[in-house]
Amino acid sequence: MFFELTEEQQAVQQAARDFAQNVLKPGVIERDRDMKYPKAEVRQMGEMGFLGMMVSPEYGGGGMDTLSYVLAMEELSKVDASCSVIMSVNNSLVCWGIQVYGTEEQKQKYLPKLATGEWIGSFCLSEPEAGSDATSQRTTAVDMGDYYLLNGTKNWITNGGTSKVHLVMAQTNPEKAHKGINCLIVETDWEGVIIGAKEDKLGIRASDTHTIMYNDVKVPKSNRIGDDGFGFKFAMRTLEGGRIGIAAQALGIAGGAYELSLAYSKERAAFGKPISQHQAIAFKDWPTWPPTSKRPSCWCTVQLGSKTKEWTSAQPAPWPSFLHRKRP
Ligand SMILES: Cc1cc2nc3c(=O)[nH]c(=O)nc-3n(C[C@H](O)[C@H](O)[C@H](O)COP(=O)(O)OP(=O)(O)OC[C@H]3O[C@@H](n4cnc5c(N)ncnc54)[C@H](O)[C@@H]3O)c2cc1C
Repeated sequence: MFFELTEEQQAVQQAARDFAQNVLKPGVIERDRDMKYPKAEVRQMGEMGFLGMMVSPEYGGGGMDTLSYVLAMEELSKVDASCSVIMSVNNSLVCWGIQVYGTEEQKQKYLPKLATGEWIGSFCLSEPEAGSDATSQRTTAVDMGDYYLLNGTKNWITNGGTSKVHLVMAQTNPEKAHKGINCLIVETDWEGVIIGAKEDKLGIRASDTHTIMYNDVKVPKSNRIGDDGFGFKFAMRTLEGGRIGIAAQALGIAGGAYELSLAYSKERAAFGKPISQHQAIAFKDWPTWPPTSKRPSCWCTVQLGSKTKEWTSAQPAPWPSFLHRKRP
C-alpha cells in the first residue's frame, strides 16, 4: 500500500521547510557551537503552531494528524536538530500525554500555554540508575493525603533549563514495582525544584539537557495523571509516539546531510569536472533516498495507528518494500 500526502500535509511540509530555511538556518552553526538555547526561534515555532501540532484546537493546538507532525519534524531536523528535539519533546511527550490522559482541569490549565510555546514542557523519566530500565525509579512520590511529596534526581532532561512544566515519573508504592509508579505534573517554579547542571553534548548542543533535582516538592493530588499507579504505563505509551518523532528527526538529519552533500558534489570540481561525475561519488546511492510516502517514520506512523488508535486514525498497512529493497 502506498499513500499520497493530502494537500494539508503538503502545505505543512512546505511551511516547515520554509521556516527551517528562513528562520532556523541563519545562526544554526553558532547556536550549536556555543550551546545557545534558541529562545527567539522557539518562540516563533510556537507562533507557527509547531509546538502543539496534534493538540486539539479547543486547547489552542493545531489539531493535526501525526503524519503532519512527522513531516514538520523531518523538515526542521534537516536544518536544526536542536530545535526539532525541543519540538519533539513538547509535542509528543508532554502535550500528547496531557491531552490523551489528563483530566479536563489539567488540559485546560496546561495545554493552551504548552501548545503555543508560551510554556515549554519536559518529560522526566530517566535517572542516574534508571535509563533503559525505566522500571527502576528511585525518585519517590510519597502519598501525604491531598498531595505527594516528591524527592529524587532526573537526568538527561531535554528542555530542562527552560521548561515551565515537568511530567515526572516517581515511585509511590515500591512493593508494587512498576505498577506503583505515578506521573505527576510539576511546575518548575514550585519550591524544591532545582535545575542542575547543563550537559555539554556532542550534538544537538543548542537544546538544553539538564539534571533536575526534586527536594520535598509538594505536588497536589489533582496533578497526578491517570489512576494511582498508571505512571509507568503512561510513560511507555507516550514514548511510543515520542520514538516516531525521534525517528523523523533522525531521517531529517540524514536527509539534510544528503541534500548538502549532493549539492556540494555538484559544485566541487577536481580533475576538470564536478566530483559528482567521478566514479566513487557517482556510485553512491544518491537517487535512492526514499520519497516521503516510503520512509520508515511515515510508515511507522501508519503502523502505530493500527495498534493504538489514539496516535492516528490512519489504516493498517504492510511494511514498505523499501525496507527490504536490495541495492540496484
Ligand atoms: C540528548 C538526550 C536527551 C535526552 N532527553 C531525555 C528526556 O527528555 N527525558 C528523559 O527521561 N530522558 C532523556 N534522555 C535519556 C535517555 O532516554 C536515556 O539515555 C536512555 O533511556 C538510555 O539510558 P542510559 O543512557 O542510562 O543507558 P543504559 O540504560 O545504561 O544503556 C547503555 C547501553 O546498554 C544497552 N542496553 C541496556 N539494556 C539492555 C538490554 N536489556 N539488552 C541489550 N542492551 C541493553 C543500551 O541499548 C545502551 O546501548 C535523553 C538522553 C539524551 C542522550
